[in-house]
Amino acid sequence: MTATRIDGKAFAARLRERVGDYAATFAEAAGRKAGLAVVLVGEDAASQVYVGAKGKATLAANMASFEHRLPMDTTSEDLMALVEKLNNDDSVDGILVQLPLPDHLDEQSIIAAISPDKDVDGFHVINAGRLSVGQTGFVPCTPLGCMMLLTDRLGDLSGLEAVVIGRSNIVGKPMAQLLLDANATVTIAHSRTKDLASVVRRADIVVAAVGRPQMIGKDWLKDGATVIDVGINRLPPEPGKEKGKLVGDVAFDEASEVAGAITPVPGGVGPMTIAVLLRNTLVAAHRNAGLEAPADL
Ligand code: NDP
Repeated sequence: MTATRIDGKAFAARLRERVGDYAATFAEAAGRKAGLAVVLVGEDAASQVYVGAKGKATLAANMASFEHRLPMDTTSEDLMALVEKLNNDDSVDGILVQLPLPDHLDEQSIIAAISPDKDVDGFHVINAGRLSVGQTGFVPCTPLGCMMLLTDRLGDLSGLEAVVIGRSNIVGKPMAQLLLDANATVTIAHSRTKDLASVVRRADIVVAAVGRPQMIGKDWLKDGATVIDVGINRLPPEPGKEKGKLVGDVAFDEASEVAGAITPVPGGVGPMTIAVLLRNTLVAAHRNAGLEAPADL
């Protein structure tokens, strides 16, 4: 069997286009554009690239982008004051503080200061709680993107065996919660799980969010399993090359011999994250303006 390649890049492009169309309709109805504020503290190179990409994608989706780039030595008080200002700014529907923050700033207390109704990253404890008890809130972008790819591929997930490898607050735990809500039978595996391979071999759905290059080989997979690879890992560079290749947590080529469908890295889950961030921002804008968000957002 050769697995179907789940094209997250194409799916994300269609989602971004839909968000852009709905954002234009929203601007007409609300008399203003939906707005996303992104806060970056310090000069971390990767974070600068992410923030730039988010700003561009926001503008391309007919929304307003507010970028706040603060120096490395920004105090907690100053950052809190900015978050408070954005909480009270009616032109801002979503607030995202780019992580990681410099060591002297406490991420949990900064995230806690964001209004849960503008927390489009879904990292606030109120939104984690809402997800856990089945209330409407914001769901972290990466697992929600994975869920969109899974339901697009499989339709109803009721009764399927799902194994999520990884239990972080931003990927593993919300992913497991979403699968549970979709009536899958869910196992969460982690670094202390015994005989991980045999746990994964039970799964109709495998979501790998570990951060270990090509850890999951074909021997770990059940025939026909649907594999969602969240991991982004850079291999050491080959001789003569400056940068190593990007790979996921799954050994893509050999896993493709057994899986029914699989996301590649890059081009799978990665592009979904920004697309879902735009989607969450537009949903926030509808809620803030007292308008109903389109059902297929
Ligand atoms: P974390 O480091 O926060 O969590 C990793 C999880 O993997 C932990 O729960 C850890 O277990 C588990 N783990 C580590 N080693 C093993 C092992 N040998 N066997 C089983 N489980 C193990 O990572 P994140 O959740 O933030 O991210 C996971 C991956 O996804 C990373 O590669 C990251 O780059 C990528 N990522 C990609 C995104 C995208 O847009 N595509 C977005 C976010 C993340 P324990 O809890 O016991 O330590």
